[in-house]
Amino acid sequence: MIDTYKHKGLRKQLVINIKQKGIKEENVLAAIEKIPRHLFLDSSFIDFAYQDKPFPIGNGQTISQPYTVAFQSELLKIKKNEKVLEVGTGSGYQACVLIELGAKVFTIERQKDLFIKTKTFLPSIGYRPRMFYGDGYAGLPAFAPFDKIIVTAGAPFIPEALITQLKVGGILVVPVGEDIQTMISLEKINENEIIKSEHGTFRFVPLLEDKADGQK
Ligand code: SAH
Repeated sequence: MIDTYKHKGLRKQLVINIKQKGIKEENVLAAIEKIPRHLFLDSSFIDFAYQDKPFPIGNGQTISQPYTVAFQSELLKIKKNEKVLEVGTGSGYQACVLIELGAKVFTIERQKDLFIKTKTFLPSIGYRPRMFYGDGYAGLPAFAPFDKIIVTAGAPFIPEALITQLKVGGILVVPVGEDIQTMISLEKINENEIIKSEHGTFRFVPLLEDKADGQK
């Protein structure tokens, strides 16, 4: 693993950049500063790693923009040792941010090639979330309930199973919409009551349904 002073310097700049865009939470900024994002991109694209932009990671998928990763992470208000479910593992970058925030991370990916690639890669740089190949619409009933749930693909609607698998007092953060998504944060007040808040618009790759073997 090569992480040079140049990379570290670029990460410091990236942190300044997303701070200017409104990210405040110190732990989130520290996680972005620590994680070597360039290792999540193919080596030929290393120069793009510390721009505040999403980037293709193969299989038609993207690693989310650092600002978006930080923004969703802030909305989750993670406390140490909380159990967090991520839907849409992708490159694994967001999962690493959650681990740095002290979460016990469970993450699901529906594209087999990407799942296998990330499952091999993350431990090689020292991150070990529990990784599952499957359909995020169903969540992970066997490991529920979760303190927090984050969806990192654009969902046409909020999957009911995810609300069910959220603890009372828990938070679900999910971008909802087809072409453009509204970032929604949902807090489960009690078994029958949720409070929803909206946090601006974003653009994600779609959360795909019913294609568990998903070669799309
Ligand atoms: N969190 C990722 C960004 C993921 S992009 C990162 O930090 O890099 C969205 C991911 O969601 C893609 O990898 C896509 O394959 C996955 N995805 C789409 N629909 C899904 C579903 N129904 N279940 C699980 N993963 C899904």
